[in-house]
Amino acid sequence: MTPARRRAPAYPHLFAPLDLGFTTLRNRVLMGSMHTGLEDRARDFPKLAAYFAERAAGGAGLIVTGGFSPNTVGWLKPFGGKLSWPWEVAPHRQVTRAVHEHGAKICLQLLHAGRYGYHPLQVAPSRLKAPINPFTPRALSARGVERQIAAFASAAARARDAGYDGVEVMGSEGYLINQFTAPRSNRRTDAWGGDAQRRMRFAVEIVRRVREACGPDFILVYRLSLLDLVDDGNAWDEIAVQARAVEAAGATIINSGIGWHESRVPTIATSVPRGAFAGITARLKPHVSLPLVAVNRINMPDVAEGILAAGQADLVSLARPLLADPEWPNKARAGRADAINTCIACNQACLDHVFENKRASCLVNPRAAAETELDYLPAKTPKRIAVVGAGPAGLACATVAAQRGHAVALFEAADEIGGQFNLAKRIPGKEEFHETLRYFHHRIEETGVELHLGAPVGPGHLAGYEAIVLATGIVPRKVDFPGADHPMVVGYLDVLGGRVEAAGRVAVIGAGGIGFDVAQFLVQAGPSPSLDPARWQAEWGVDLAGDGRGGLAVPRPEPAAREVWLLQRSPGRPGARLGRTTGWIHRAALKAKGVRMLGGAEYLGVDDAGLRIRIDGEEMRLPVGTVVVCAGQEPRRDLQAQLQAAGVVAPVHLIGGADVAAELDAKRAIAQASRLAAML
Ligand code: FAD
Ligand code: NAP
Ligand code: SF4
Repeated sequence: MTPARRRAPAYPHLFAPLDLGFTTLRNRVLMGSMHTGLEDRARDFPKLAAYFAERAAGGAGLIVTGGFSPNTVGWLKPFGGKLSWPWEVAPHRQVTRAVHEHGAKICLQLLHAGRYGYHPLQVAPSRLKAPINPFTPRALSARGVERQIAAFASAAARARDAGYDGVEVMGSEGYLINQFTAPRSNRRTDAWGGDAQRRMRFAVEIVRRVREACGPDFILVYRLSLLDLVDDGNAWDEIAVQARAVEAAGATIINSGIGWHESRVPTIATSVPRGAFAGITARLKPHVSLPLVAVNRINMPDVAEGILAAGQADLVSLARPLLADPEWPNKARAGRADAINTCIACNQACLDHVFENKRASCLVNPRAAAETELDYLPAKTPKRIAVVGAGPAGLACATVAAQRGHAVALFEAADEIGGQFNLAKRIPGKEEFHETLRYFHHRIEETGVELHLGAPVGPGHLAGYEAIVLATGIVPRKVDFPGADHPMVVGYLDVLGGRVEAAGRVAVIGAGGIGFDVAQFLVQAGPSPSLDPARWQAEWGVDLAGDGRGGLAVPRPEPAAREVWLLQRSPGRPGARLGRTTGWIHRAALKAKGVRMLGGAEYLGVDDAGLRIRIDGEEMRLPVGTVVVCAGQEPRRDLQAQLQAAGVVAPVHLIGGADVAAELDAKRAIAQASRLAAML
């Protein structure tokens, strides 16, 4: 091909190099900091190196590690990752070497947790307990403040010694530096508190001293909280002044921080619109001249390119999207966005794991942070494999097995692949689930899986296969109370599948993940606000343009389409078992729509006048016209019994809901399926 006829790059702004003066980044993709759990023990560093090496090979320009504390009091948790002693340097060299071999740059994130530290040694500007932490911090003395600054500078010097190209100083999300900058957590009256200038002095001194310790040719990213999303957070003019001061003190790049961990506005969950916060980075642009990074819910190349092309930022931060698909940048550069395994922002295997003290991974990519343990190597003896059911479990199993060289036939009774994901994608705020199905369509074609749609499979179809995988999913559990067969009692499949139009007043029986989703579906009038940043910001009270403290406005939820009661038999608050980092969002969203969530309900019966329940000995009648049953699920295993009866000798494997329906989710279904396929 002659140069004149060469195809224009698919995303020219995203893949333009960025010259920082002393070094050049190969593109505008910054892999945002994420804690994986591999940072905390030196013996896990080979795994950490393999994890970062895949992301560097996948094309990221600049990688930022998970947070390392500059000293013990700054730990996130006891014995968490830290870089304060000379002997803590050496393990990092495996990481920096592995990344550099693939042409990417890497910064170590310096994170002092302050009052977010989950241990009794924690320190903070003032003795004010964080609402999300049982420990109360010790207020730093003036000498203590100096010691923290010195710790940042010496940890940065050690990072340089370990081969890092720079550091990211974590000044947002409500960690120590942010605790100093905001009046919410800084009540000091000395040189480190009071007016905005004195509150930001800690941040500026850290940047100045890190620059001094590391020299001019070292990348210094400062993560600045552009939107605290808490009461008594910083006002916009204070943030702009801080940005200029940080630039003058020697920062190379400013990365955006959105929301504190204690804020009650979702910032990265799947219901947050894509690119919803890019506007606040754009607002900072006229105030500084160093490159700015836009963050949060940038999961596809068109979103990233749009932000850069509009001049809202100079780089984009992709954190979870690179867990989901390490090859994201390479695929985007090659114009193969349809091949990207998109992060659906569920938090189920990444952030939830971190908060549960488990190693992070990814729902759609169980290899994430397990690169040395879960390998899809070519099969030694290729086999003919039948996979029955094209829900998440069957799709993952079939495509991984085919990638390994097996001849795979995938049978699905419905006219489309996806199983229950076809219901999940209809829930307002879960539109991202479409992307997983698009990805699997692509994978089926790419790996050569033979797809059979539109007819349930019986034993007769499965003769001649050397292995049979049953991924036939679940059947909804039936309920048993007087009137359970009344015409107004319907299942969630009927409602979400569009076969039943619910009445104006609805009771939802069962408050698990599906009960919550069905309630959300029922109260939403019109298009989902997750597709419209302005409406979403109004609903949650986010003000990107105002001057109020913390970027908060009065939330203005849109009216609910229906009156809904969400019920469970167990006592206590419905939703207590939902995702660790997202359950509160589901509860808050339904509360804003007036949904009544009741625990400890006894179902007495349904008749033409509605549903009778008893709670704490008190009987009441809910005047509903529809009762939607979301009472959990049972495995669908009829085919297994038929195969046994037919005397089929090929090994039969059960995965996903067909294996265990209790507490099934797509994370377990995909992980179990991928692990089986790696061994077949
Ligand atoms: P399924 O998805 O049930 O797929 C089974 C497939 O097998 C079906 O397509 C079925 O048609 C097919 N099949 C059955 N018998 C035969 C046969 N004889 N021949 C051919 N085909 C057959 N999980 C999460 O992790 N996060 C979420 O946010 C989430 N949200 C959800 C929201 C809703 C509204 C729903 C309903 C579910 C949600 N889930 C969520 C649950 C998740 O979708 C399931 O855990 C997952 O789909 C289970 O995967 P599976 O492949 O085991 O089963
Ligand atoms: P679930 O979470 O097990 O909830 C089932 C609900 O039904 C519970 O509230 C249970 O509470 C009630 N119930 C159980 N047996 C009942 C009976 N015989 N009669 C009346 N009520 C009964 O199951 P699910 O909501 O069907 O969800 C299925 C899976 O999908 C879950 O494991 C979930 O993880 C996953 N999912 C996840 C998400 C997510 O956002 N992460 C969203 C949707 C689904 P009581 O027993 O107290 O009444
Ligand atoms: Fe994204 Fe969910 Fe994977 Fe986390 S677990 S990276 S949120 S898809």
